Amino acid sequence: MSDYEVAIIGFGPVGAVAACQLGQAGVRTLVIDSAETIYDKPRAVALDHEIARILQGLGLSDALAVCAEPFTDSIYFGADGRVIKRLTMLAEPHPQSWLPSMVFMQPTLEAAVREHAKTYPSVTIALGETLTGIAQDADQVRLEIENAEGRRVITAAYVIACDGASSTTRKMLGLPLEDLGFDEPWLVVDVLADPQGLAKLPQTSVQYCEPFRPATFVICTGNHRRWEISLRPGEDAREMEKPENVWRLLSRWIAPADATLWRSAAYRFHALVAREWRQGRVFIAGDAAHQQPPFLGQGLCQGLRDVANLSWKLIRCLRGAAGESLLDTYGPERGGHVRKLTGIIKHIGGLIGERDATRARERDDRLIAEAGGTIAAVPRQELMPALDAGFISANAHPARGTLFPQPWINTASGRQRLDDVAGGGMRLVTAPAAAAPGEALRQAMIAIGGSIITFGTASGLVECDGVIRDWMAKHQASYALVRPDNYVFGTASDAQAALALTREAESLLT
Ligand SMILES: Cc1cc2nc3c(=O)[nH]c(=O)nc-3n(C[C@H](O)[C@H](O)[C@H](O)COP(=O)(O)OP(=O)(O)OC[C@H]3O[C@@H](n4cnc5c(N)ncnc54)[C@H](O)[C@@H]3O)c2cc1C
Repeated sequence: MSDYEVAIIGFGPVGAVAACQLGQAGVRTLVIDSAETIYDKPRAVALDHEIARILQGLGLSDALAVCAEPFTDSIYFGADGRVIKRLTMLAEPHPQSWLPSMVFMQPTLEAAVREHAKTYPSVTIALGETLTGIAQDADQVRLEIENAEGRRVITAAYVIACDGASSTTRKMLGLPLEDLGFDEPWLVVDVLADPQGLAKLPQTSVQYCEPFRPATFVICTGNHRRWEISLRPGEDAREMEKPENVWRLLSRWIAPADATLWRSAAYRFHALVAREWRQGRVFIAGDAAHQQPPFLGQGLCQGLRDVANLSWKLIRCLRGAAGESLLDTYGPERGGHVRKLTGIIKHIGGLIGERDATRARERDDRLIAEAGGTIAAVPRQELMPALDAGFISANAHPARGTLFPQPWINTASGRQRLDDVAGGGMRLVTAPAAAAPGEALRQAMIAIGGSIITFGTASGLVECDGVIRDWMAKHQASYALVRPDNYVFGTASDAQAALALTREAESLLT
């Protein structure tokens, strides 16, 4: 028997959430990190409702609520200052019962997730420990780990490498990253603004799509404000990070008397994705598997989607509730999703980053003309792609592979979110007007280790805002089979079709 069922390399935000998800299921897990402490400044500043629901599933709703605020609209100004695009929040009722887009304070949330990971008895956390070697056979993975005292060797049935953009594991395994064609130097500047500074700054987030120097301004939590400013050819990244140069760039908005410079760091914004996400018993996740420009604030979100996707599959395999082939769906599902979303992010980056003044004005004319003269606000979440491969029904219904909604539920103690009332896992959700599932369907759900969630007054599960009712009506469905990571396996319009759908899932699990 291996020392651990799963070893996680890297206790960054992605590794920490993976540790909690495995710990919640009682999986014997080791998580190591070279660093003793978390980085005390935020890199990610935005996350979305899908991630909030993942954190909620771990019991971290309150930890998120204390460090998150609504993401303001993003207004895109063109070469001559005209509004050319506007991204906004989805309207209420919010489909996941969480704010669709949030800004948050990464170190605060990361610290809370780490503390939470410590509460699981099956999770061992080893800080100041660095992976230096990896080898595997058909049964387990052998890891060489170094710490201040020396070197040790441990074994694990599976490994998740969440060791960041320069992943040692990925390099040791020789897993290549594919370049999706984006490579630009940008300067990221964080300030803590004083009241007079806040008054001078824009009251929404802004994309300055200006050919001389494209730039992004984000209203973060509290008095934290961020700029991402593109560097021009010939500008030296290290020089541009220096406070005198940063303040020169910020002088358009504020002066040193208005704010404290918290951090300035030059990055190359890349669009990279792993060709293979699995080698035998080792999986890569988070920045180790992909990197994308931060224009939609999705880098960390993508990493947390990775581990939400992988964790339930590993848990099932370890507990004998699925065959190894389920693990093969991880790479195609996440790789396809990351590629599609990175394409959208690159498109936005291309819009923002046009350096040719003539082409920038043509872009502005085109976008304004396409909008019929008035730029309508587009909800950010409408840009999110669906899963189109892997553990999903063969019936390509439009709802398949999308994120299933989570409504507010009326309960005796006030409104509560669906997952808090009904739980997660594999579940068949039946619409308020659907026929009650018969015995065959009940048995089929038991066979896949799932539950049935029945809406309606008879079951006592009544939603506040009609989110499920409207979703089912939109998709002409009465039943939805939902995966533990909240993605829709498939939908069915009647009980017979729901039975077939459940049996299809069973056949893919064995
Ligand atoms: C400027 C900027 C802005 C961003 N904005 C956003 C945003 O708004 N929204 C968003 O979702 N994302 C954003 N991101 C992306 C986000 O910050 C990253 O995707 C996320 O932090 C990656 O988390 P991770 O856990 O995969 O990797 P990391 O946070 O890099 O963690 C990796 C961990 O692995 C450890 N490690 C490495 N090698 C070893 C080893 N050999 N042995 C043991 N431990 C090891 C490291 O010490 C580290 O703790 C942004 C990124 C940048 C740079």
